[in-house]
Amino acid sequence: MIAACGKAPLGPPTTQPNLLMITFDTLRADHLGGYGSAANLTPNFDALAANSVMYPDAYAPSSTTGPSHATIFSGLHPNEHGVLKNGVPLSDDVVTISEILKEQGYSTAAFVSSYAVKSHFRLDQGFDLYDEDFNFPRRRLGGYTIEAASEWIAEQPNDKPWCVWVHLMDPHKPYKQPKEFLDPYITPDLTGHELAKASYNGAVAYTDSVLPGLLNSIRAQESAAGTLMAITADHGELFGEKGYYGHGTNLYEDVVRVPLIFNHHSLSPQIIDSSVVGLVDFSPTVLELLDVAHEVDMSGLSLVSNIKNGEQATRAVFMQRRIFDEDSIAPILEEIGANVEGPQWSVVHNGYKIIVAPDIDETELYHLENDPTEQHDLSEVKAESENLRRMQKILGDILEGQTLRASIDDLSAEVLQNLEQLGYAK
Ligand SMILES: [Zn+2]
Repeated sequence: MIAACGKAPLGPPTTQPNLLMITFDTLRADHLGGYGSAANLTPNFDALAANSVMYPDAYAPSSTTGPSHATIFSGLHPNEHGVLKNGVPLSDDVVTISEILKEQGYSTAAFVSSYAVKSHFRLDQGFDLYDEDFNFPRRRLGGYTIEAASEWIAEQPNDKPWCVWVHLMDPHKPYKQPKEFLDPYITPDLTGHELAKASYNGAVAYTDSVLPGLLNSIRAQESAAGTLMAITADHGELFGEKGYYGHGTNLYEDVVRVPLIFNHHSLSPQIIDSSVVGLVDFSPTVLELLDVAHEVDMSGLSLVSNIKNGEQATRAVFMQRRIFDEDSIAPILEEIGANVEGPQWSVVHNGYKIIVAPDIDETELYHLENDPTEQHDLSEVKAESENLRRMQKILGDILEGQTLRASIDDLSAEVLQNLEQLGYAK
C-alpha cells in the first residue's frame, strides 16, 4: 500500500467530520459585510457567513495574539492557561483542542503566518504538522499559507478525519499586500494613521480574496461527513477610537469584537443576535459539534444548545489584557494621556460593560446598548451605582473562580497579587 499518493481510500470513508479552524489576525468585526460593513471588502466571507451560524456579538478574550489564541484552543481564560501576554509559551499542562482531536484519531496540521504564533510559543501542541515555513521576515502572505494548507488537505486519505488550523496575518500591519488590493483605498494625500486606516481596508479585502482557494480544496476532498468550519479572529484593531491606535493596549469595543461563525451542512444558517459570547466557548462548542467526548476541564461552555435549540447564552463575557512591552509602548500611550500600568479586566453582561485597571485604581462603566462606542463613562453617575456594583461583583466572582492550571509560577504569583489588591483573593 502506497500511502504517499494519499487520495485513494485506505478503508471505508470516515463518518467523522473534518475540522477547519481559521483565525484571522487583527480582523475587527465591523469591516465584514456580514457584520454591518457596507464597504464590500469581504464578499467571500460574507457568502460563507450567510450560509452559517453567525454570532454578531462575539468577544475575543484579550486584545493580543498569544493570549487570545491560547484561549481559543484551550477553552480557558488567560488567567487559567497562563499566557497573559505575547511571548509567553503555552504550558504543556494545558490541553488544547488539537491534542484532544489527535488523541481521537484525527490527522492534525496547522499553517501559520506570523512570528507571534511560531512553535516556540507552543500553540503547536497536538499538531502532527506545524507549517511555519516563511522567509518573509516574521510573517507570510495569506495566499501562501492557504496554498500550503490546501495542498495538505488534498493529500489526506478519506478514511481518517483531519483537523486544520489556518492562521492569516494579512490584516495586521505592516500592510504588504499586492498593490491591486491596497491601491483602491489609498490616495496620495494620505499619511500616518489615515494611510494605515485606508490600507487596512485593502489588507482585509486581500485576506478575504484568499478564502475561495481553501474552500475549494475542501469541497474537492469532501466526505459525506463533511467539514465543520469554525472561523474567528484573535482581536481587532483601533484607528483612533477612544484616542488609540493598534491593539493590545486596552479592551475597547473595536479591538475585542471579532467575527465568529460555524459552518457545517448539518447546521441551519442563522444569525444569533440574542446572545453575547466569548471565544473561551470556541473549543467546547467545536468539540460538541464534532460529537467528540473528552474529559478535559475547560471553563468555556458549549454553545450547541444555543445554536440548535435557541437556548439563550446569558453568561457574562470576560476579557483581560497585559501590555506586551510596557517600556516601548508606555511613551506612546503617555502622549495621549493613557495609563497602561498593570492588567486591565473587563466584563460584558446584560447590556453593560465594565473595565477595571486595578493597579491604577481606574474603573469605567458603559451601557453598550445605548452607547456602543463607549463615549459616556457611567462609573461616577449616581443613578448607575447599582449597575456599577452589580458589574463589579460579577467581575470579582469571575476572577475568584479562575485558577492558573499551568505551572508558570511567576504568573501565578502575579495573578494572586492582583487579586489581593482588589480584595478578591481568598
Ligand atoms: Zn493578533
